[in-house]
Amino acid sequence: MIFRKILPFALCIMLILSTGCSKEPTVSESSSESSSVQIIISPAEPSESSSSEESSLSSMSSVSEETSSSESVPETSSIPETSSLPETSSSETEEPSSKDYGTLILVNPWNYIPEDYTLELETVQGKYKMDIKAAESARNLVAAAKEAGFNMQLCSAYRTVEKSAELYQRKVNQYIGYGYSEADAKVEAAKWVAPPGTSEHHTGLAMDLVSSDYWNYYSDLEHDYEKFDSFKWMYEHCAEFGFILRYPKDKQDITGITYEPWHYRYVGIEAAKYIMENGLCLEEYLEIIK
Ligand SMILES: [Zn+2]
Repeated sequence: MIFRKILPFALCIMLILSTGCSKEPTVSESSSESSSVQIIISPAEPSESSSSEESSLSSMSSVSEETSSSESVPETSSIPETSSLPETSSSETEEPSSKDYGTLILVNPWNYIPEDYTLELETVQGKYKMDIKAAESARNLVAAAKEAGFNMQLCSAYRTVEKSAELYQRKVNQYIGYGYSEADAKVEAAKWVAPPGTSEHHTGLAMDLVSSDYWNYYSDLEHDYEKFDSFKWMYEHCAEFGFILRYPKDKQDITGITYEPWHYRYVGIEAAKYIMENGLCLEEYLEIIK
C-alpha cells in the first residue's frame, strides 16, 4: 500500500528533476527519433583579434584532439546519437521550433551561432559527421577526389559548442599557468582556438580534410598543404559539390581567421561557384547578395 502511494510521487519527483536538469546544457537532444539536435549557446566575449581557428601550432593541438584525445573526450559526447531518452522524457512536449538557417549561415568571430540553430547529423567519413544538408555532397566530393587519385581524410567536421568550450578553456588555463591574468589568457587563447560559439564547425557545414600522403608525412595542419596536388584538385573542384575554401590566404582581415588550406565549407553549388570563380570569401558574397 505504502509503495503504491509513494510510487507516483517518486515518479513525479524524477520527472521534475530530469526536466529541470535539461535547462543548462550547451547541447541538448531535440528529437528522440533521430540525431537532430538543438544547440543552445552560452555566449562568451568575441575575440577582436584576427585569429587562427586552428592553424599551425593550434592546428597541431586541435588535430591531436581529433585524433588522439578523442577517445577520452569524444566530439559528440554530449549528444547521444541513438536515443537513450527515458520513456518519461519531456522532449515530446518541449519540441523546439526548428528554424532553418540554410546553407549560407555566417558564423565567425563576430557572429555567434544562433541559439536556436538546429542540425541533423549524418556520417561523412569514420567518426566525422556533418549536417544532412552537406553530408552527401561531402561524401561525393571525397569520392570524386579518390577517383582523381587523392585519398582525402577528414580530421574535423561537426564540433559541439561544448567541445569548443573545452578546447578553449584548456588553452586559457595554459596561459594562466604561464602567469597571464584571466582576461589576458582569454585573449591569447582566442588566437589559437576559436572561442565557443564562434567556430564554423558548429554549423555542421564545415570540414577539415587533407590527403593521406600529406597527413602521413606531416601529421598536423600546416600552410604547406597548399603545395600538394590534392589541395590544387580540391581548390579546383570543390565548388562543383557546393563547397568553398572558407579561409583564403588574402581574406583574413575579413574572415577573422588565418589562411586554412584544409577548411572547406558547404554553401550550395550556385553560391560556391560564384564565390570560387570570383575569388571571394563568404562574408564578401553575403554583402553582394544582400
Ligand atoms: Zn576547420
